[in-house]
Amino acid sequence: MAAKIKTVGIIGAGQMGGGIAHVSALAGFNVLLYDISQDRIEKGIATISGNMARQVSGGKLDDAVRQKAISLIAPANAMADLAGADLVIEAATEDETVKRKIYAQLCPQLNPEAILATNTSSISITRLASQTDRPERFIGIHFMNPVPVMKLVELVRGIATEDVTFEASKEYVRALDKTITVSEDFPAFIVNRILLPMINEAIYTLYEGVGSVEAIDTAMKLGANHPMGPLQLADFIGLDTCLSIMQVLHDGLSDSKYRPCPLLVKYVEAGWLGRKTGRGFYDYRGEHPVPTR
Ligand code: NAD
Repeated sequence: MAAKIKTVGIIGAGQMGGGIAHVSALAGFNVLLYDISQDRIEKGIATISGNMARQVSGGKLDDAVRQKAISLIAPANAMADLAGADLVIEAATEDETVKRKIYAQLCPQLNPEAILATNTSSISITRLASQTDRPERFIGIHFMNPVPVMKLVELVRGIATEDVTFEASKEYVRALDKTITVSEDFPAFIVNRILLPMINEAIYTLYEGVGSVEAIDTAMKLGANHPMGPLQLADFIGLDTCLSIMQVLHDGLSDSKYRPCPLLVKYVEAGWLGRKTGRGFYDYRGEHPVPTR
């Protein structure tokens, strides 16, 4: 029998953690949101509130439902506040050292029965699980960005993940009205294994001067019928996240076809991480996005 999940703890109140909190609260789960500072948690909750308000004004959400959902989200100012969670989803920065430190601090605080999930885009679930006290209750629940809009969730079992963990995770994702695909635990799973090399190739296309930012995005939107150009999408995902995923593919599969483009590295070094920092392949600080190359 899968354990019933009622309270979901979320670590990381950024783009993804905020989105996961958003959809979880709308589905009626109690949500506890944790980040490295109170300020980040408050900002995360303010963003969720703004996003829900936009859904209401767009006629996609009833205001009473929004109010109820917001009331279900509480800040967790310390990891100990996550003790009552049945499921904790870690959605912190895509850096294995960061995630490992979080698990070391978090696990002693958790209910022994609690499931620990990661939203990692690319890191081995089996390896992350081995850093915890509960590899059998550890799983990858990989949401897509933006979480309230995207229908897919990839579920990734580590080698030790037990059936009860898998079943309880499935039940949670279904309650969010998302579609599940199951992926084996190989670098970047399914979606990012295919998507990120395409984005990296678009950056090489820019780097080699084959086309401008605008030409590349227009070409893929109108020539391949993609809803967004690959560089626009890279800015949306976050260029630091894109680089980490390429590094995981490169290291994990030891194939030079996955080498991250030096131009992507340069943007990350500049702190031009895309939309979240106001600048990436486009500059978002004005009224309309302007290509930066
Ligand atoms: P983000 O930069 O928007 O948010 C990361 C958050 O983690 C920040 O608020 C940061 O303060 C917090 N954080 C960092 N260290 C922490 C710690 N020690 N304790 C608590 N919080 C900490 O990043 P994001 O785009 O939300 O990505 C988060 C995770 O989701 C990553 O693993 C990423 O690979 C994955 N993911 C991202 C996307 C995407 O499109 N951006 C899609 C699917 C999955």
